[in-house]
Amino acid sequence: MTHEVQRRLSISVQPVPKQKAEERIHNFEETYIGFDLNAAKIEASRCIQCPSAPCQEACPVHNDIPGAFNLLEEGDVIGAANKFRETSNLPEMCGRLCPQENLCEGACVVGFAIRPDGRKEPPVTIGKLEAFVTDTQRRELDGYPMPRYMPQPTGRHIAVVGAGPAGLAVAEQLADKGHGVTVYEYWPEPGGVLVYGIPNFKMRKEIVDQYIAHLEAMGVRFICNTYVGKDVTIDTMLQGEFDAVFVGTGASLGNEMELEGEHLKGVHKATDFLVRGNLAPEQLPVHLREPLPPPHNVVVVGGGDTSMDCVRTAIRIGAENVTLVYRRTEAEMLGRGEERKNAREEGVNFEMLTNPTRFVGDEHGNVTGVECIRMELGEPDESGRRRPVPMKGSEFIIPADTVAIAIGYGADPLVPQTTSGLKSNRKALIQIDDSGRTSRPGVFAGGDNVNGADLVVTALADGRRAAEAIDEYLGTLPPPRNRNER
Ligand code: SF4
Repeated sequence: MTHEVQRRLSISVQPVPKQKAEERIHNFEETYIGFDLNAAKIEASRCIQCPSAPCQEACPVHNDIPGAFNLLEEGDVIGAANKFRETSNLPEMCGRLCPQENLCEGACVVGFAIRPDGRKEPPVTIGKLEAFVTDTQRRELDGYPMPRYMPQPTGRHIAVVGAGPAGLAVAEQLADKGHGVTVYEYWPEPGGVLVYGIPNFKMRKEIVDQYIAHLEAMGVRFICNTYVGKDVTIDTMLQGEFDAVFVGTGASLGNEMELEGEHLKGVHKATDFLVRGNLAPEQLPVHLREPLPPPHNVVVVGGGDTSMDCVRTAIRIGAENVTLVYRRTEAEMLGRGEERKNAREEGVNFEMLTNPTRFVGDEHGNVTGVECIRMELGEPDESGRRRPVPMKGSEFIIPADTVAIAIGYGADPLVPQTTSGLKSNRKALIQIDDSGRTSRPGVFAGGDNVNGADLVVTALADGRRAAEAIDEYLGTLPPPRNRNER
């Protein structure tokens, strides 16, 4: 180990300032205040600049993390931000939302190294540094950086179905090549899960708004409140003005528990609860505009990040008691540890090894409680995690006037059902090749409607790959009639 590596390893991790729990439960501002420049430079200098960069290898879009930190350490914040933007369309979002402990930070050698005094330290705080440099750049520019030169229009037109992470990445990559892009979106505003899934206390909406404004400045058109497959089909798009279509509709259908009482008033699917708790009525479809009644006792079912978003939203909209119910133990939970820590700090009660058996209601059809049963762990199941087994006779009721069910998402089958020649599996996941081409020539897909519910960054990686395949496909078509049109 060289003297320089030893010096870097001796630098302690820099804490990331965040709002105190007793303050943040009264607002929807971001929990993390983030680094200042001095702390960011020190944190970046903890990187030992590994030649093999395992962090970069572990990143789904292969960000040049050591390259960015080398610049940041020297004080070149804009250079560091641009380094992330070379490979990622949404670095400020990935810096906030990726489970870095399982990706770049999970691979960072600084987290494994034992110092001469036997001390261990956490890995370099890669995600928060990525957010810091790109936030700083956007603040200086009052928006996202535009390309130095606007590309010549190619006369090609592509429809993107779904304005979530995959669709937005495709739109930017294709607009950057001079292609005309129109994005269709079911919800009233573009952004998909970034607007309608992620609460403000994890990522402020201004970041998405600025990104959409950036895409519009690059010529991308957005058509919202449009349910593709019902209001317009992909077949008609391809018969009309579009040369190709990308399908990035995500996994938007909340799974049901199929239990007695699940349709009582006050029992919500996670997304319906989150959007009504976090967004203004005018940002929602008409059927979701009625505000949530003030909750007192809230039960959230599930163990992933969406369930943490629900419990933390419930706290902020004034619930007195918020209980998370999960059928296994914390060791089997798939969501982020830092989100569970934040939820605990905010006063959420965790009921582990507990599973709902039915929802109890009153004579008016309102939910009044959740009957649960205690569980114990048995043998591992097909997921490799130990299977939860009910303990007979242990049923009990948790009082609840509001329930949110956050037990995962599935893909909407409408696009595969209404697009001729588009192959999907029994879960409505669209089949693609390694480049994002579907079974229907001219139709490409990526993100959660291909992979099942997954990460923002994997959808982004799919979008970038599909954009390359779409550009290649467009090159095989006869020349367009009017090249000057975007
Ligand atoms: S693994 Fe950690 S120390 Fe190595 S290059 Fe990546 S961030 Fe730096």
